[in-house]
Amino acid sequence: MSGRMDGRVAIVTGGASGIGAASVRRFLDEGATVVIADVQEEPGRALAAELGERASYAHCDVSTEDSVAGLVDTAVERHGRLDVMFANAGIMGALGPIAKSRIEDVDATFAVNLRGVLLSMKHAARVMQPRRSGCILATSSPAGVMGGVGPHAYSAAKAGVIGLVQSVAAELRPHGIRVNAIIPGAILSAMTADLVAGDPGDLAGASTKLTSSPLVGRPGAPEDVAAAAAFLACDDAAFVTGSTFRIDAGYTCAPGESP
Ligand code: NAD
Repeated sequence: MSGRMDGRVAIVTGGASGIGAASVRRFLDEGATVVIADVQEEPGRALAAELGERASYAHCDVSTEDSVAGLVDTAVERHGRLDVMFANAGIMGALGPIAKSRIEDVDATFAVNLRGVLLSMKHAARVMQPRRSGCILATSSPAGVMGGVGPHAYSAAKAGVIGLVQSVAAELRPHGIRVNAIIPGAILSAMTADLVAGDPGDLAGASTKLTSSPLVGRPGAPEDVAAAAAFLACDDAAFVTGSTFRIDAGYTCAPGESP
């Protein structure tokens, strides 16, 4: 591979599965050293063991400040610096009509998908600012820019991620730190598998939606998103900050059509 991330140290939250795991692999292929951060200890450790000495696992619950602070400190202790924070961990949360929303479910979704991203940005900025360099990525969703594609709290949190990215990008621009959002389209992963298997009655047609994109004739893959994350994380994207990068085969341009 091109080694566009040679010598860089990256954290990928939600790195044990799906888009996060594919990004871990891609960042390693590009030359980075990667800390896989996740609440899922067993797959996180197994992935790190499979990938060799430039990969390691750190347990982290992104919804808890002490846990995120500890994660960033661990990365710096292990590797001396932090260049890339990919705030990717997320949960789908509970589906259902707004009139039946349970505030515990709403809070749980916000805690991971929005507070978790803010905390990841906060603690990454803490160690990146003194070095006047760094890159922060955060995973949003089509649900953050359009309706009807996810639970209400999930949509609100993912829209919030875009607002947060723009706001933090503006603050950190003079400090040499880039901050960008990624919008993956419908990507085959544990999250979407659960969605289809969990309650197909709530999202009719979800399985067919995930079968094939009209652009490429196949479903979206975690590797499609990982390739974009690697671009944004390396110097090829040196002039890119505050952006919302859609890796969705045009899905958000064509509402109502299949992904
Ligand atoms: P996934 O379920 O395969 O991966 C999510 C990972 O996040 C899991 O490893 C999980 O253990 C981890 N995680 C959950 N809560 C956590 C917490 N509190 N702290 C740390 N880690 C935690 O799903 P995925 O599809 O790879 O999702 C990755 C991101 O992409 C999510 O933010 C998701 O909302 C977003 N996204 C996915 C799709 C899609 O179609 N798959 C589309 C748009 C956005």
